[in-house]
Amino acid sequence: MSAKIIDGNKIAEAIKQWIKAELEKLKENLVLVAVQVGENPASRVYIKNQKSSCEEIGIQYNLVQFDSNISEDNLISEIKKLGQDEKITGIILQMPLPNHINSRKIQMSIPEEKDVEGVTPANLGKLLYADVQPTVAPCTALSVMECIKSTGENIKGKEAVIVGHSEIVGKPVTLMLLSSLLDSATPTVCHIATKDLAIHTKRAEILIVAVGKPGLIKGDMIKKGAIVIDVGINRIQIKDEKGEPVIDDKTGKPKMKTVGDVVFDEAKEIAGYITPVPGGVGAVTTVMLIKNLVNLYKSESAS
Ligand code: NAP
Repeated sequence: MSAKIIDGNKIAEAIKQWIKAELEKLKENLVLVAVQVGENPASRVYIKNQKSSCEEIGIQYNLVQFDSNISEDNLISEIKKLGQDEKITGIILQMPLPNHINSRKIQMSIPEEKDVEGVTPANLGKLLYADVQPTVAPCTALSVMECIKSTGENIKGKEAVIVGHSEIVGKPVTLMLLSSLLDSATPTVCHIATKDLAIHTKRAEILIVAVGKPGLIKGDMIKKGAIVIDVGINRIQIKDEKGEPVIDDKTGKPKMKTVGDVVFDEAKEIAGYITPVPGGVGAVTTVMLIKNLVNLYKSESAS
């Protein structure tokens, strides 16, 4: 059997259409402000992608940069000022921050009504309630849920195993899977200290892997017919038949490719559904950020 591929680009396109329809109804200019401290090659790529995704949809994206020497207190007061600016719909903090700054403190200084990433204590806290629909939530966790929903399978009572318990993926996904009093899955959360990972993954009807270790989940660790959601994004060298790195003629460096945490070629023969990497969860994450922004605007204008 070959698994059905969960097409992240198709899911993202449907969400984009929803966002466009909402923006037409709102007839407002939404503004997303990205806060960057110092320069970092990794965040440069994220900023470029976020900017083009926002502009494609008709949302203004402003980058506010601070010098890498800015003090923690000054950064907090600058973020508070941005938080009070009524023209700004949402604020996103670009990581990493310089070592002298406590990222957690900065994250918590973003007002919950501008917290487009859904990572402030107030917004994360709302995930605990079964009878409250949170306005925003961590984008990657929302993407995982969209990928699961796209299969059309009912999650009620299903054995769901989440590998990785970070606050942006594993933990919020666990709460989301428990979010309904009647239709919740039965989640198990695995992490670095889990004694025998395969015991858990093998019984998962829904397997969500968010670790950042290529090859962690092999085919024989997956239950037949499972929904496999691979969140991992890893850059690895392309190898030839002898296992040697393939060298790029132009750069003289090894050629690289992006893979997830699941061995895709093995898993697709066993799983019922699977997200590819790239083209799975990651393709949905940026549009979830914009959906969060629209939800923040709607919630503020309703209050
Ligand atoms: P993270 O904060 O580093 O968390 C990784 C988690 O994996 C931790 O909970 C860690 O447990 C656990 N872990 C580490 N080794 C393990 C093992 N051998 N077995 C079981 N669990 C293990 O990472 P993250 O931010 O959640 O990201 C995870 C992956 O998803 C990365 O590859 C990242 O690039 C990718 N990602 C993708 C998207 C997307 O849109 N597709 C978005 C964000 C992140 P301990 O804390 O106990 O060590």
